Amino acid sequence: MNISWADRINNLPPYLFAEIDAKKQALIDKGVDVIDLGVGDPDIPTPERIIKALNLSAQNPSNHRYPSYAGMASFRSEVASWYKRRFDVTVDGDKNVIILIGSKEGVAHAPLAFINPGDIALVPDPGYPVYNIATEFAGGTPYLMPLLEENGFMPDLNAIPNDILKKSKIMFLNYPNNPTSAFASDDFFNKAIEFANKNNILICHDAAYTEVYFNENNKPKSFLEYDGALEVGLEFHSLSKTFSMTGWRLGHVVGNEKAVAGIGKVKTNIDSGAFQAVQEAGIEALRNYEDGLQERTEIYKKRSMLLSEGLKKIGIDVITPEGTFYVWFKNPNGLKSSEFANLLLEKSGIVMTPGTGFGIYGEGYTRASVTLDDEQLIEAVSRIEKLAI
Ligand SMILES: *Cc1c(COP(=O)(O)O)cnc(C)c1O
Repeated sequence: MNISWADRINNLPPYLFAEIDAKKQALIDKGVDVIDLGVGDPDIPTPERIIKALNLSAQNPSNHRYPSYAGMASFRSEVASWYKRRFDVTVDGDKNVIILIGSKEGVAHAPLAFINPGDIALVPDPGYPVYNIATEFAGGTPYLMPLLEENGFMPDLNAIPNDILKKSKIMFLNYPNNPTSAFASDDFFNKAIEFANKNNILICHDAAYTEVYFNENNKPKSFLEYDGALEVGLEFHSLSKTFSMTGWRLGHVVGNEKAVAGIGKVKTNIDSGAFQAVQEAGIEALRNYEDGLQERTEIYKKRSMLLSEGLKKIGIDVITPEGTFYVWFKNPNGLKSSEFANLLLEKSGIVMTPGTGFGIYGEGYTRASVTLDDEQLIEAVSRIEKLAI
């Protein structure tokens, strides 16, 4: 039999990360002590209290059956209550919240709910690659909004041509941002809401990093805190980064009732919801969310400072992050992203993600994840120094 892939698979861009992984493995096989600052996956374990809640809930046979599509009413209501406590945003757990199997799942399914073939999704570049791919899977076309350093890595909404706006149905945004670690300004979010209203474009805000911040006086806000946001948008949130739960697959989407229901329609026909024991562990996570949170973010803060200050000392132009666990910087000596990434890998045994892995406007930049301990970060800086570029 001749098995052929669909065009949507054949047309996928070459997967850069797979290429880096292969090179990394080859070095490890040769005995090189590789320092991997590539993946953004917390090395800090999930808090004990959450694991205990899972253990307990897993014992209950009523949790072994199919969960409800929208997620347990008890968890949806906990999400609503967390939005109230954390952001002072009032939402109804029954109308404005759906539980996701990780926020990536929700982001990836969103275009299926809102995009017809030929429609456009406005996508930040550099950005999380799922926005683009999911748009294309739905038959839509991504329009790239450059995130430039001179604009604080926020898109210039006035620069989007009218003919594009006419065909645009949704706009993805993501703050605090991966990969640039930028925060959005109040002014930007307010303008985005006005823009959404004027052009009838649904805002899909990916808020995975609102709890990874380093300065109590510069706390990231939810998009839904802004006047009118509930009329024009929704927000994807995740327990992954906040509670070191990337492996658990639990997130939620909160926002406009009709928009949330659209995502619900898609999910009802594709999956059957997150394991209820995991959702009950999620209730524990959110109910006592401040427990241990600062200790965890202090670790990322210390590492981010260590790496960014270290890189600055050897002459690299670094944007000191205020949150997330990424350090985004301009490559030394004007090197192209792939050139620098290869050099790091081959000459220093260091894995970092070339900016172009996040889109064409990432060219000239590199992303390092501080999901490794201090010693390895110090060692990484010293190896880069020895490169003398
Ligand atoms: C990690 C990440 C996610 C996905 O988180 P999950 O809830 O684990 O699926 C979504 N968006 C961005 C920008 C991320 O970095």
